[in-house]
Amino acid sequence: MVRQSARTAAQPKTTAEAAVKVEKKVVATKADKVEVKKRAVTKRKVDYNEDEDDKEENIEPNVKDEDEESPSKSKPAPKKRKTTASAKKADDSMPLAARTPLNTLKLAMKIGAHVSAAGGVQNSITNASNIGANAFALFLKPHRTWNYQPFSPDSPSIFSSLLKANSYTPEIILPHASYLINLAQPDKTKSAQAYTSFLDDLQRCESLGITLYNFHPGSTGGLPISEACARIAAHLNAAHKATKSVITVLENMCGSGNIIGSNFSDLATIISLVDDKSRVGVCLDTCHAFAAGYDLRHPEAYAKTMTEFDEIVGLKYLKAFHLNDSKAPFSSHRDLHENIGQGFLGLRAFHNVVNDERLQNIPMVLETPIEVKGPDGKKTEDKKIWAGEIKLLESLIGMDPESKEFKDLEVELQKKGAAERKRVQEQVDKKAEKDTKKAAPKGKRGTAAAKKKKKVEEEEACDSCGEQSD
Ligand SMILES: [Zn+2]
Ligand SMILES: [Zn+2]
Repeated sequence: MVRQSARTAAQPKTTAEAAVKVEKKVVATKADKVEVKKRAVTKRKVDYNEDEDDKEENIEPNVKDEDEESPSKSKPAPKKRKTTASAKKADDSMPLAARTPLNTLKLAMKIGAHVSAAGGVQNSITNASNIGANAFALFLKPHRTWNYQPFSPDSPSIFSSLLKANSYTPEIILPHASYLINLAQPDKTKSAQAYTSFLDDLQRCESLGITLYNFHPGSTGGLPISEACARIAAHLNAAHKATKSVITVLENMCGSGNIIGSNFSDLATIISLVDDKSRVGVCLDTCHAFAAGYDLRHPEAYAKTMTEFDEIVGLKYLKAFHLNDSKAPFSSHRDLHENIGQGFLGLRAFHNVVNDERLQNIPMVLETPIEVKGPDGKKTEDKKIWAGEIKLLESLIGMDPESKEFKDLEVELQKKGAAERKRVQEQVDKKAEKDTKKAAPKGKRGTAAAKKKKKVEEEEACDSCGEQSD
């Protein structure tokens, strides 16, 4: 209603122009003000997540072996974080860009970001709307601890009324599982803990009317991959029986150590063991795919990767996308998200994705870094970056990649990311050199030394995720 005029008013004249300008632009419309008011009303409903560490939201660490999880990590977060969360909430309430009406785009690409749900799940809706997102992801509960509280009884009704008020449908929401959940965990107690949290998330989805739920397949813990996939599938089958409709969406990973899901065949194996195929799907993360050796950069490479996906997994299972550029080079098996167009994937890869008409209407979620250093050296989150990237990606729909407009944009963004690409390339080269020198002698595989080396590699991969917030 009122919102419609706000959206129309914010329509870019020319696509690339809008993409560049939007970062600086603050759209404070009448409708947005109404939204802020609505938010103020619901703000006091604190379900959970006061301790949510938003700084790490755009990081995609691989699932660690849970043995690495120290008991101290399960402690509730210190109370002082409440102040931080409240401060962030104030920042989040700023409308930064209006949503682009889908009928004004040549293809119905629903693009958004993984937004904060600090202060209560319902806040994710306003946070998504404030950055002009037509899709969004969120954590349903604190994602780095096993300690969690149930939703407050009125959460579902507040959530669905806010969703309606913002003209969002539940299908565009893609909640992300806690990073601790490893459904492949062989240890019985830990496996039960992971399953309980997983099922709790699915029940949360259903209570909110959410239809998709994204999770990392997990880690083999050094045991055979076939057994690990069977353990995941068994949990999925049980969880599907215990719930009604939510689709469990496996995410592809970047291929380090014991992490499951870097090959399309891992995903296919898990799906083949799921009884109710209508309850399972896949979310493709562009950064993970690229780091795992699936190229997306050129139209031919993109087509080849998607054909491979279709042949091995099946396009009908493709339920969502994570849109991230990569700070690390092709097939480096490192999970380092970069801003769109600034990494080794480059703008052309994203042009390929958003112009693929088969991907219409599925949620496409940015998990790109938004931390910036202020003049005082302190890091803060700048959500204008996501608002700008959403408009940038939308501007690529139907844009001629041979046009000056595209080429200029490509050059400009590559220039922005040049130093970071160089830094990570050097790291990757150094590690490759080290690995060649230290190559384990044959016959050592399966020994304690080899296992330890594998675990170290995995930890390195996980640690590397933290770099993007530097
Ligand atoms: Zn993920
Ligand atoms: Zn992802």
